[in-house]
Amino acid sequence: MHIPILRLVVACVVAIVTAGCAQRPGGVVFQNSTIDALLDGNYDGEVSFEQLRRHGDFGLGTLNELDGEMLALGGEFYQIRSDGLVIPVAGETLTPFGVVTFFRPEASHEIAGATTFKELQARLDSMRPSDGHAYAFRVDGRFASLRARSVPRQNRPYARLAEVVKGQSVFEMADVEGTLVGFWYPESMRHVNVPGYHFHFITTDRTAGGHVLDLTLASGRASVQSLPTVQIALPHHPPATQPAGDRSDELEQVEK
Ligand SMILES: [Zn+2]
Repeated sequence: MHIPILRLVVACVVAIVTAGCAQRPGGVVFQNSTIDALLDGNYDGEVSFEQLRRHGDFGLGTLNELDGEMLALGGEFYQIRSDGLVIPVAGETLTPFGVVTFFRPEASHEIAGATTFKELQARLDSMRPSDGHAYAFRVDGRFASLRARSVPRQNRPYARLAEVVKGQSVFEMADVEGTLVGFWYPESMRHVNVPGYHFHFITTDRTAGGHVLDLTLASGRASVQSLPTVQIALPHHPPATQPAGDRSDELEQVEK
């Protein structure tokens, strides 16, 4: 009788300590698969949006067979296709790579005056107390200009992502109101997610958007949430059929 009770007590103590660790300040970011797997051409979705939304209401990624850019905001998931069309994503749709969190901003800053993408990133740097872990950023505002891209749906055998982006669609927007949804990851996580800043954009009227290549902010407000805990659902798929190239160079081509 006594031993099972003792075991139960030990289990409870362990559970409390573990819960304590999980409840460190800031949020949890969840992602399925890794940026390296995506760079290698693993575009078959393994996680549904129904599953993904259990882990967050805010984020970015792509869709099954790399069918465009994905953005999640306020619990709504959007597909931004390579033809520019923005459509809500159905729950049963699959994704090969999605990054989400429940966005609960910890600080918010007004950004006034024309601000380039580089200047905006410097402002956001000042909102990050540490380089040690990930952060989520939301920027709402009016953009004097914004250049975004999307990628076309792929067929097997899949090409490496650096090849695919050579055929990307680029959208030039001027004087648009909308929201940037993004993350900052430390350099130490280069094989897991994009190091530094990675933003997707959607207009307030939800008619245009994409993966952000460049922008000039006219005025806006930036909010930040720290993400000290990263959860990763690793892919089931076998190693990529494509041999790994120099992923650092490829990452630069793909993101910038
Ligand atoms: Zn992107």
